[in-house]
Amino acid sequence: MTPSARRRVVLAALAASLPVAGSCFSRPIRDEGQHGTPFPVQGPTAAPRLPEPEPDPVEPIPRDPAPPTPGIGIGPVVRVGLRVSRADTAALAATGAWRLIDQRGGVLVRARAGERWFLERRGGQLRAVREGGIRTGWQVAPLMQYPEEGSFVRTGGRSYRGALAWVPTDTGYLAVNHVPLEDYLRGVVPLEIGERSPGERAAVEAQAIAARSYTVMRLIAARGGSSRSPHFEVVASVADQVYGGQEAERPLADAAVTATAGLVLRIGTRVVNAPFYSTCGGQTAAAEEVWRTGGEPHLRRVSDRIPGTDRHYCDIAPRFAWTRSWTGSELDAVVRRYLASVAAVGSGGPGRVTDLVVEERTPSGRVGTLIVRTDRGSYTVRGNDARSVLRSPGGEPLNSSYFSVTTERDDGRLVRAVIRGNGYGHGVGMCQWGAIGRARAGQDVRTILRTYYPGTTVGPVPPGSLTP
Ligand SMILES: [Zn+2]
Repeated sequence: MTPSARRRVVLAALAASLPVAGSCFSRPIRDEGQHGTPFPVQGPTAAPRLPEPEPDPVEPIPRDPAPPTPGIGIGPVVRVGLRVSRADTAALAATGAWRLIDQRGGVLVRARAGERWFLERRGGQLRAVREGGIRTGWQVAPLMQYPEEGSFVRTGGRSYRGALAWVPTDTGYLAVNHVPLEDYLRGVVPLEIGERSPGERAAVEAQAIAARSYTVMRLIAARGGSSRSPHFEVVASVADQVYGGQEAERPLADAAVTATAGLVLRIGTRVVNAPFYSTCGGQTAAAEEVWRTGGEPHLRRVSDRIPGTDRHYCDIAPRFAWTRSWTGSELDAVVRRYLASVAAVGSGGPGRVTDLVVEERTPSGRVGTLIVRTDRGSYTVRGNDARSVLRSPGGEPLNSSYFSVTTERDDGRLVRAVIRGNGYGHGVGMCQWGAIGRARAGQDVRTILRTYYPGTTVGPVPPGSLTP
């Protein structure tokens, strides 16, 4: 894939992730894992716009000769891809006064609270226009929008700490939030673990450290040159971590972020990834059971059973145990619609389902291989992929790959399939509901993290990790 095609795919994925990011706060807890979430590949958008032949207008706003570039805070900065708006213009907004800065640090616009400004694009260039007509000259993008003291920049109906970078795309504008790591986490932790009570604080602290570790890994990867975009390290959706900006912040999560400031999960002096998900359903999975990659020593099977009982720390979760069923024709419809995304299906379609057979289980008891038998053949599906095939008639993926299947027949035809399952999410790393159960039982944050990520310790980011 060429770099520009890759960028387009990432931008398309960012746009595709918007409804999720926009509706996430009502969710009590993260639904889905953060890793290996495939980007939906969309076709190329419109051809790049060529610059129009009109001459540059005279720049009506004098450039500030020696502007102090506003700071955005302390610590490493995370660049979060927020949204791609498909529009001819993009509104520049904030809760108070703000400035628009060019690539050389010059102030293009100094806006007072309530002034209405928007961006226009021309190829790779941007200009700002105030309602009523005043405008800047065309500028090389990106442009940076900084809030003045005590103000927050706004886009897409949300307020953000830090600054916004504006990037023109083929069909609109990409908004990227440049925000200090610790401020970013304040907008992530409450959305990822839900609003919790003070007795569950150790779980919120564990979530803060896991989310910080994930972010630092992305920053390290970007500094090593393996970033998905030149403009951002993470996106604001479940493709990375759900991020809701300043209005998503909550006091308990703020306290957990502050209490764990700078701390990440490590093996020796190496920062390691800390994947998490809603509910393991009894036992977590080793990475290689679920993903094609794997083998990280701290991502292995862990029992969530409460010692000396038949209960599990995450059995308080809404989806600890669940059932999903289909009629024969409903099953045919979802298989017809989704099987081709994970298996080679001929042009005539997969046919009518005659059976679902769990052929192989992984060591933690999850489905390793599922066989979908139809009147046209037999299709082999990996367990985690089965989640995106066996969707509800409404399109919701299967909660987990930790399930068993029963089928009912009438006259040899499959008339009903029932799946009984446990847990919600991929199952690798920290079980968020298990962490909540353990916090209620009095375990501290280090005990919780040591349990779900065996062999790790909690410590600061090693010096030099985040410098180029
Ligand atoms: Zn669990």
